[in-house]
Amino acid sequence: MADAVGGRPRSNQGGIVVKYVVFRETHQDGSYHFHIAAKLTSSQRFSAFKRTLLQRHGLVSNWSCSHSSFWSAVRYGFVPSEAKPVVDAQCFQWAADGLAWDLFEASQEPFRADSWRQRREKKDKQAEAEGKSIGFTKLDLLSLVLSKNLRTKRKLLTYAQNHGTVPMQSFLSKHQRRLPEFIEDALEWESAPAESAVEELTDWDLLCQAADQPCPHGDQCVYKTACDQIFELNAASFSWVSLAVALRSVIVSGPSKTRRVPFLVGSTNSGKSTLLESFDSLFGEVNVFHLPALTDKRFALRNWLRHKRFVFWDEFKPVQFAEAECLPIPQFLKAFNGDLFEIQVPQNAHDGNVDFRWTRGAAFTAKERGLFTPAEFVTAEDIFHIKARVHLFRCSARLPRLREGGVPQCRHHLAQWIRAGASIFDAAGGLRPALPTLAVEAGVDVGVGGGVQGLAELLRLAAIPEMVARSLGTEILELGAVHIRELSVQDWCELAAWGGLRPLQQRRLLASLQT
Ligand SMILES: [Zn+2]
Repeated sequence: MADAVGGRPRSNQGGIVVKYVVFRETHQDGSYHFHIAAKLTSSQRFSAFKRTLLQRHGLVSNWSCSHSSFWSAVRYGFVPSEAKPVVDAQCFQWAADGLAWDLFEASQEPFRADSWRQRREKKDKQAEAEGKSIGFTKLDLLSLVLSKNLRTKRKLLTYAQNHGTVPMQSFLSKHQRRLPEFIEDALEWESAPAESAVEELTDWDLLCQAADQPCPHGDQCVYKTACDQIFELNAASFSWVSLAVALRSVIVSGPSKTRRVPFLVGSTNSGKSTLLESFDSLFGEVNVFHLPALTDKRFALRNWLRHKRFVFWDEFKPVQFAEAECLPIPQFLKAFNGDLFEIQVPQNAHDGNVDFRWTRGAAFTAKERGLFTPAEFVTAEDIFHIKARVHLFRCSARLPRLREGGVPQCRHHLAQWIRAGASIFDAAGGLRPALPTLAVEAGVDVGVGGGVQGLAELLRLAAIPEMVARSLGTEILELGAVHIRELSVQDWCELAAWGGLRPLQQRRLLASLQT
C-alpha cells in the first residue's frame, strides 16, 4: 500500500460502523472510563483496532469477549443490574444513517429458540439442585418444537416421554389435544420475521425479487420449457411481450378501463393455466384469491377480504357466475375497474356487507367455447361490458405433455418472463403516440414493406427474415399506416406476424424503432 502512514484507504464510503453508544462509568475515586458498544457492518478481528487506537490516538482499550452480540453490550451499559445498579443516563448515541435508535429495544435479546430452550434447561437443573420445581410454559414448548425440530404431535410426545422433564411431560399431557394448534403457533412464530419483511414489499417488488433469485429447479425447469413452447406455439395469436405488459400493468396498479385483466382463453391442454398457475408459488398460495365455488352463492367472495395479493381465476366463466348470482354483472364491472363494490359476509361478523376495492393484480383463464354466449339474465350488452374489462389472449395450440403429473410451478421463471417482456416494451419507448404531422410520401419503399415509409429499412436494420418481414409489411399496410412511426409498440406487439418473430428478433426490431 503506497499510503501506509495514513492507514488503509477507505473503500467503503459509509465506513464499517453502523452504530455505537458510549457509556461513562465512574469509579469510587471520581475517575472514570468509557464502555463503547459498536455494531459493525461485518465481523472483524479487534487487534488492528486496538493497535490503531493506541498508536495513532494514544488510547488504551480493552476488548470484551463476554458479549455475544450488540444487544448484550448495549444492555450492560443501559440496563441497571444487581452488580451495576447505576448506569450512565447521559450516554452518547450515534448512527451512520443519522437516525435515532431506541436503546431499550437495542438492549433486548432477539428471540432464538435454541438459546431459550438452553436457558430453560439450565433453570431446570438449578431448580433440581435446590429441590424446587419450576413450570413449563407455552413459550418453552415453542422453543422446544423449533430448536429440536419436533414439528408433529407424535414426534413431540415421543421426545417428551424419552427426554422430557416432569414439568414438560405434565404440560404436554395437560394440553395434549391442543398440541397441533401449539405447533402451528410455533411455526407462525418462526416465520413471522421473514413474512413481515415480505409484507413490506409491493407485489411488483416481490416479483422482481423472484426474478433475481435463482430458479428453484436449477437448469431443468419444466415450467421454463413450457413457457417457451406456449409462447412459440401461440405466437400467431399473441405476443408474450404484450401479455407481460398487461400483467405488469394490473400487478402494479390494479385493473381499470385502461388496465384490463389479462384473460387467457383456449382449449384444454393449451397450457393457459400452466402459464399462470405459478402465481401461487410467487405470491404464496394463501395470498392468491382463487375462483370461489359456484355453489357458495351468498358468500362466494368473502375470502377476497383476507389480505390477498393476486386474483387468479382459473376456468372462470363470467356469464355462469352472473347467472348463479355469485358475481352479478354490475359487481364484476366495478370489481375489475378499481371501483368500490360490496362483498357479502356472514351476518354474525358484520352487518352483512363490506365495501371493498381491488387495486392489485388479476388474471383469468377459461375455455373459449361458449364463454361469451348470452344467457337468461345476461344480455349481449352485458357481455360487451364484460369484454371491455378484460384483455383476451388466445392460446389455441395444444401443448404437448412435458412431464408426467403436470408442470411444477416456478416463481422465478414466471417473474422473469413478465419482467423481461415489460422491459423490452419499455426499452422500445412504451406506448409511443402516433405522429399526426407526417409527410405522406407513399410508394417510396419497394419490395418488402413497400408502401409503408421506413418499414423496409427498419426490417433490414433489425435483420428480420424475409418471410416474416413480408407478413409484417402486409399487416401494417392493412392497418392503413403510411409511415412506421405511426405504430405504437403495442400496435407492433398485437400484429399477428409479430408472434412469428423470435424473442431476439422482436427485441432487435423494437430497439431499431428507437433509433
Ligand atoms: Zn424455473
